[in-house]
Amino acid sequence: MGKYEEVMQESLGEIDAFWTRQAEKLFWFKKWDKVLDQTREPFYRYFEGGLTNMCYNAVDRHVEAGKGNRPAIIWESPETGKSRTINYSELLGEVNAFAAVLKKLGVGKGDGVLIYLPMIPETMVAMLACARIGAIHSVVFAGFSFEAVAERIDDAGVKLVITADAGKRKGRPIPLKSIVDKALEIAENKVGKVLVVDRGITDWKRVQERDFILSEEIAEQHGAKVAPVWLPSNHPLYLMYTSGTTGRPKGVVRDTGAHMVALYCSVPFIYGCKEGDVYWATSDFGWTVGHSYIVYGPLLFGLTTVVYEGTPDYPDPGIWWKVVEKHKVNVMFSSPTAMRMLRKFPSSWFKKHDLSSLRYLFLAGEPLDEPTWRWAKDSLGKPVIDHYWQTESGWPMLSNMPGIEMLEFRPGSPTKPVYGWNMAVVDNKGDEIPRGKRGLLVVRPPLPPGTFLTLWRDDERYLDAYWRHFPDKLLFYTGDFAIEDKDGYFWVLGRADEVINVAGHRLGTREIEEIISGHPAVAEASAVGVKDELKGQAIVAFAVLKQRQEPSDEIRKSIVKLVREKIGPVATPRDVQFVKMLPKTRSGKVMRRVLIGLCEGAKLGDLTTLEDGTSVDEIKRAVENMGIK
Ligand code: AMP
Repeated sequence: MGKYEEVMQESLGEIDAFWTRQAEKLFWFKKWDKVLDQTREPFYRYFEGGLTNMCYNAVDRHVEAGKGNRPAIIWESPETGKSRTINYSELLGEVNAFAAVLKKLGVGKGDGVLIYLPMIPETMVAMLACARIGAIHSVVFAGFSFEAVAERIDDAGVKLVITADAGKRKGRPIPLKSIVDKALEIAENKVGKVLVVDRGITDWKRVQERDFILSEEIAEQHGAKVAPVWLPSNHPLYLMYTSGTTGRPKGVVRDTGAHMVALYCSVPFIYGCKEGDVYWATSDFGWTVGHSYIVYGPLLFGLTTVVYEGTPDYPDPGIWWKVVEKHKVNVMFSSPTAMRMLRKFPSSWFKKHDLSSLRYLFLAGEPLDEPTWRWAKDSLGKPVIDHYWQTESGWPMLSNMPGIEMLEFRPGSPTKPVYGWNMAVVDNKGDEIPRGKRGLLVVRPPLPPGTFLTLWRDDERYLDAYWRHFPDKLLFYTGDFAIEDKDGYFWVLGRADEVINVAGHRLGTREIEEIISGHPAVAEASAVGVKDELKGQAIVAFAVLKQRQEPSDEIRKSIVKLVREKIGPVATPRDVQFVKMLPKTRSGKVMRRVLIGLCEGAKLGDLTTLEDGTSVDEIKRAVENMGIK
């Protein structure tokens, strides 16, 4: 039996022994009473009774072990031309001072803090300071609109918002503080305090009594010590909002202790990292990848993590490789979209730099097509590892794992299940299907440690969205189609539900449809994801206008603008087409597969339940207009 099989067997067969061994590598103020509690299935709870602290394990522990001089964060900002290195001792000092500021502003254990910040070290310090005192952070991607921020301020019930005067994208300032001001105007939750990182990029309006400037507050707390609060293993560490099949975003709740254990051991096992390594995840703090592999995972293992403020092609398409050379990055994590974007440029951009430090490039977030995989591997001359996971999982579910055993590569497949994940492909009833056949990707319970506890204040929705897809079987529904081949390799084929994946950003079609339907000229609308060369998928919307409204470019543009404003630039529809009716079943449900099929030029399948066949011809014409087939 190979090492992979051996680890797999133990992790699934002897759950307690396997995870006890991992958890013992970290510091617990009080040891747990029970490794896995399944009494409230499927609300699996790990390390119940244990007390620990994420921040202590990620920062203090290394300083106390005499490793304080080791660099913890390297900040590279092509956007501002700045660069900064912070070692573990310095980071500990900054986190303590920040935690003191939080306390002064009235934030304590269990309170919510919304963080709307760019890719700067302060974001990480803010997250760690929350973790230190048991406050629950909710980081919102700084490309989201004020409406999205307001929705999260309300849903998470936060007490404090932390933002900056501005972020920057390709040299252009993004005025974050004024977006927060607008969000607070419409939010029902009247947050009384806003903490501002003043970067001196733009002017901003200070609201007296409400707005505090970080540098002034820190100056007051300089040298302060705030003891880590020992928290129950299942105390929420953070909330992360993600799109689902219904309009409202879902607040994924992450725990403290089990998540810490899962991240800690994934760093050497999955990513093949060793002590002293420099790790760079090119994601954003606003996504789960950022939480797990820019902040917590690398720090828990005592690595140096790179925080990058910029894009892959600014000021030029060689910038990433320049950073790899400059900081001797060992392991990198990025997305297929970024690679497809870089592929537009000659691979001589790679050749300009010494990439000898780099051992692996991991990619995730969307399906990785074979040509892109091959191009990245050949251009880098390094293994490129596709791996699959979700916001909900918090850490990889399918991956080749160099730290355990590197398996043969099969381009287009994220290889096999990660230890702890009992993955399967099933039919609509939840019965396993023969290998080689397409079905739904599920996880057999229990879920491993460190995934998610539930959806924020909505256990019912957690059960409905993930556990009640198959009425007679308790299986975790991923929402993806997949094939397991005869050798146990998994192939993830894309979403089976109403979620669109644009450049690795997950967007719910319902969310987009509700916004378009809210446009004064629109009666109803449907949005679908279509294949896109660069971003994997792009949004295309079909809108039925209200009576007496005539299709016009003006309405089209205002619809596109509305979606951008309400969700953010990531959700910009590629096209909006006007039709007289949507293809519906007799019971009035929009047949999305017909829309997708027409957009992608695929076979339409059974149309007998369609109410009016002329709707199909109309959509066909619309699709030809767009030229997307
Ligand atoms: P998110 O929760 O935003 O990370 O999105 C998770 C979704 O992204 C998954 O359910 C998949 O649809 C897709 N995804 C992530 N990684 C991969 C991968 N390696 N291959 C195929 N699809 C992926």
